[in-house]
Amino acid sequence: MTSREDLVRLDKRHVWHPYTPMWRYLDEVDPLVIARAEGARLYDVDGRSYLDGNSSWWVSSLGHNHPRLVAALKAQADRFCHVSLAGTTHEPAARLAEELVQAAPSGLTHVFYGDNGSTAVEAAMKLCVQLWQNEGRPRRRRFVALDGAFHGETIGAASLCGIEVFRRPFAGVLLDCIHVPAPDPGEAGAAPFARAFDALERIVRQQHAEIAAVVLEPRVQGASGMRIYAADYVARARALCDEQDLLLVLDEVFTGYGRTGPMWASAGAGVTPDLLCTAKGFTGGVLPMSATLATDRVFAAFLDGPGAASERAFHYGHSYCGNPLGAAVAREVLAVYRDEDVLSRAAPKAARIAETFRRLGDLPGVSQPRSLGMIGAVDLAPGGSYLGQAGWRVYEEARRLGAYLRPLGDVVYVAPPLNIPDGDLEELLDIVTRSVATALE
Ligand code: PMP
Repeated sequence: MTSREDLVRLDKRHVWHPYTPMWRYLDEVDPLVIARAEGARLYDVDGRSYLDGNSSWWVSSLGHNHPRLVAALKAQADRFCHVSLAGTTHEPAARLAEELVQAAPSGLTHVFYGDNGSTAVEAAMKLCVQLWQNEGRPRRRRFVALDGAFHGETIGAASLCGIEVFRRPFAGVLLDCIHVPAPDPGEAGAAPFARAFDALERIVRQQHAEIAAVVLEPRVQGASGMRIYAADYVARARALCDEQDLLLVLDEVFTGYGRTGPMWASAGAGVTPDLLCTAKGFTGGVLPMSATLATDRVFAAFLDGPGAASERAFHYGHSYCGNPLGAAVAREVLAVYRDEDVLSRAAPKAARIAETFRRLGDLPGVSQPRSLGMIGAVDLAPGGSYLGQAGWRVYEEARRLGAYLRPLGDVVYVAPPLNIPDGDLEELLDIVTRSVATALE
């Protein structure tokens, strides 16, 4: 077995890490070298364990290496690993689609498979653009998104992004989207909410002839710092889109699979979108796979009508579309949610997160304590800058104490597996509290 030192040396020589200032990484910080993971814990090559405070970028909602997910993966691998979904189908893809439709907000009836959250959003965007093209309204091709939005890495999905630091390097090539103020969770009272919704309403009413869809992360803007906002905004956005016959895309890549409490944040807000994007928890973090769910109304726009049938077909499809391994695991994820009563058993855990983060807000230097479902967050500096030093100190201290946290700038948050054992959750919350206190000393 290669030693830790050798692995770090190889890594630093060749591996380019995501969202990482590599000069700092090369000079200062050695990565954790993970040898195995189980439940809410990562184990490094020296046998030290780290509580996974963010479910490994929000994917491992059922913890690491859930035995049922691993068994489903192995069983499918013994049969076959991949076949394209063009002109073929198979039990995992077909059964998963049926089960997803049953689990999804009612009215979503068709499933388009993708590889990750970004491609789930990218497919949704292309579906919107082509839908209006098929329906003879090709001017409808702009998207409305919120300031502070994050929807993925590919150029289309990144164009929806409303976080300046992510947009800046690519500004010249991003699509021309319309950004409107997010319902500001930082300000108390009804006025900021009304102001934000008024802005959306104004844009949509003025420019509906050119707008393809409104795209939202329902209830919480994750990457911009766990900005939680009222369900009513999502419901009113739905009504506004209906009024103007526009499409509503809800990106549940982070919020799906119970992260905010209910299985879907959309359903929690009483809304069925025209398109719903899901990834991350979709395969419980076992394989990269995603889905874009669509209503009959969307699907119908790609069926018979004027023009050649081949032109009306959706022009999109990745090599791994409907991958049997991912689909088999995704089916098992849904089964585990049912059999292990994951959502109701997460409720008391969510209450503990809420209580801890409320108390963290009492510390000097800490502001905006907030929580929703299995998410808790605080800001360490007013406004939380993206390259925050306080957040970095929390990362280092938590790591020393045995937890893997990855603050978003100076926003410290947890989003642990929904089924994290109670003892592990208490330990994680204790480490968060101590690390924040130390970082602010
Ligand atoms: N949408 C949202 C809301 C996300 O939070 C993310 C990733 N954090 C994505 C899309 C992109 O997902 P992926 O990284 O799997 O491409």
